[in-house]
Amino acid sequence: MSESINIIIVGAGLIGLSTADALVSRGCNVTVIEARSGPACGTSYANSGMIHPSQSRPWSTGKQIDLDAFTSVHDLALKSRTLLQDRMISLGLYRDNVVPGCYKLFPDMMAAREAQKRYSQEGVTSRAVLDADATLGHPALYFEADLWANARDYAVALEADLKSRGAVFIYDAPNLRIRRGQDGVTAQIRGHVFQSDHIVIAAGPQSSELLAPLNIDVPMTALRGFAVNFEKPSMALPFAPLMDAQSHSAMTIFEDHLRLSGTVNQASARPLLQRWCELAPDIMRELKPATEIWSGLRPMSKAGRPYIGRTPIPGLWVNTGHGHMGWTLSAGSGDIMAKMIVDGKTDERFKLP
Ligand SMILES: Cc1cc2nc3c(=O)[nH]c(=O)nc-3n(C[C@H](O)[C@H](O)[C@H](O)COP(=O)(O)OP(=O)(O)OC[C@H]3O[C@@H](n4cnc5c(N)ncnc54)[C@H](O)[C@@H]3O)c2cc1C
Repeated sequence: MSESINIIIVGAGLIGLSTADALVSRGCNVTVIEARSGPACGTSYANSGMIHPSQSRPWSTGKQIDLDAFTSVHDLALKSRTLLQDRMISLGLYRDNVVPGCYKLFPDMMAAREAQKRYSQEGVTSRAVLDADATLGHPALYFEADLWANARDYAVALEADLKSRGAVFIYDAPNLRIRRGQDGVTAQIRGHVFQSDHIVIAAGPQSSELLAPLNIDVPMTALRGFAVNFEKPSMALPFAPLMDAQSHSAMTIFEDHLRLSGTVNQASARPLLQRWCELAPDIMRELKPATEIWSGLRPMSKAGRPYIGRTPIPGLWVNTGHGHMGWTLSAGSGDIMAKMIVDGKTDERFKLP
């Protein structure tokens, strides 16, 4: 039956592509409509690369942690990590010589141990370490169960794979409108009307404004982050990503470059670079001028968990709001969405308020 289901996905970021992947695997005809000229040109372009279920805690809003939101996101993250690993293997991207896990740096060992207690209460296992190479001499927690990989490389490979399996991609379509008519919802670009059985909005930080004209509220904020790429200096470098809790940023050593990325709503990349001059002065001294400076908006749901599910309009769905966890949650979120649409399964954990 699923062979006859036609689905439009709006957005070719990590979430839209993963949704397409799960739907094509279930035999659906998928068309992805993207405003920009290729896959992963929005927020998914240059993230920190961490597949980190360990960081499922919603970013602090000054309130107590929402345990229910944490558990939902953490469960999904663990499942998604396994799906991503399998998918990277099948796409020929998985590098098994890479040291798994991510490190989080702390100002002192007491702070690291305090945090370790909190993580442990939430079911997240970590090891306290202080190592000259791995943590640049900083007290840290090591999350061995996390992974890391270049999300954009994955997105590009996934898009090519989807095309080879029959998915259609329409790029450079910035003026898309979603309309509600007698025959259900349609996507319209420059007067052309695309009919389908279902439309999934995976437009990242733009999802709210796309749905607002239909009176659908997707409560999100967009948190700007920066990424700065450098040629790798020829010196000993950390072998797994280092996170800095204070600045919500990370240093990641990819195969062919070093990336500093993160911060929240700063006006420029300067605070990011300044922070890493404090944390890693020896490495920063050796870096040549940046090869690329980029910024993107994290689509951060106000609920502390993504929105994956139906809207009040039949046939119109959302998969967005993944905030700082979008790479980690991508494969799992696509899987949930496909199960809802194709198999009719409901999952109330991620419903729109
Ligand atoms: C600096 C930084 C570091 C990060 N590090 C990590 C990390 O280490 N681990 C992790 O798990 N997550 C991380 N994230 C978060 C993760 O990158 C995002 O959650 C994820 O990329 C969001 O994917 P998306 O597909 O929802 O959005 P996007 O990648 O933005 O995709 C949405 C797409 O929809 C398109 N679109 C928008 N409007 C329309 C329209 N009207 N018509 C057609 N197309 C439209 C956009 O052009 C875009 O391509 C990081 C984010 C940032 C900014």
